[in-house]
Amino acid sequence: MARKATRKVERIVWHTAAHGRNGQAFDTTAQQIDQWHRERGWNEIGYNVVIRFNGTIEPGRDPTKIPAGVAGINETTYHLCFSGHGDIAPLTPQQLEVGIQHTIEMLQKYGLTQRFLDEPDGLIVMGHREVNELVRRGLAPTPTTKTCPGRLVDMDKVRMQIRARLQPTAPPAYVYNTEAAGELLEGLQKVYQAVKGLQLQDDLIAELNAFRRQPEIDEIIRRYREERG
Ligand SMILES: [Zn+2]
Repeated sequence: MARKATRKVERIVWHTAAHGRNGQAFDTTAQQIDQWHRERGWNEIGYNVVIRFNGTIEPGRDPTKIPAGVAGINETTYHLCFSGHGDIAPLTPQQLEVGIQHTIEMLQKYGLTQRFLDEPDGLIVMGHREVNELVRRGLAPTPTTKTCPGRLVDMDKVRMQIRARLQPTAPPAYVYNTEAAGELLEGLQKVYQAVKGLQLQDDLIAELNAFRRQPEIDEIIRRYREERG
């Protein structure tokens, strides 16, 4: 039997269960949501996963099937739903952490990581409510009045956190130390003097010049000169 092709997912969408009352958010289970969605006449839970207050991931609809999360763009989206109510309480730290990790895994699984990094405003990771921005751009047909995943879930901040994890800051290119910086400067001066003595052609010392012009080398020497007054 031929293996079923993976559907083409283009966006990862965050939701809240919007489950709470009198200032208290409830720790919704996937089973509860499954029940609610069946009562609406759906086959099963619409979301692909549910993330509980303690960070446990409960499976929802098999992601090879088309989910039911945002009208009009379900065929190309993957859906995480957080237990609780994003208008009443922010996500728990565990939910946020697991949500970010799972989103990164899905970006990788569906080959979206580079697009996410290249298109900061591309809504590759989005909150349900941001479908309205897609509608404005002509990329989705149906707007929503929902605040989902809730007013207390800042999607810009979520995207920033995901971005920071995907682009770990590069290690510093050097560790400054006065003595070594002095040796570098002195060494360069000696080499240039030798180059002169040997009457080397410019093209032979091009790479030495290129080395000297590296911003980091420039910075080291500038700092050393500053220190020496
Ligand atoms: Zn939603």
